[in-house]
Amino acid sequence: MAYKCAKCGTEVTNVSEGLVRCPSCGHRILYKTREPISKTIKAE
Ligand SMILES: [Zn+2]
Repeated sequence: MAYKCAKCGTEVTNVSEGLVRCPSCGHRILYKTREPISKTIKAE
C-alpha cells in the first residue's frame, strides 16, 4: 500500500506498521493513496 505525506506530498512506500514517517521531511501524518489518482468522479 502506498502513502502520501500530508506535509510535503512525497509518496511513501514500504511503510512499517508503527513507524509511519515521511522519509523526506519526517512528518508523521500520511494519507493512504489506495485509489488511483487518475480516478475522477464527476458530479453534475
Ligand atoms: Zn513529507
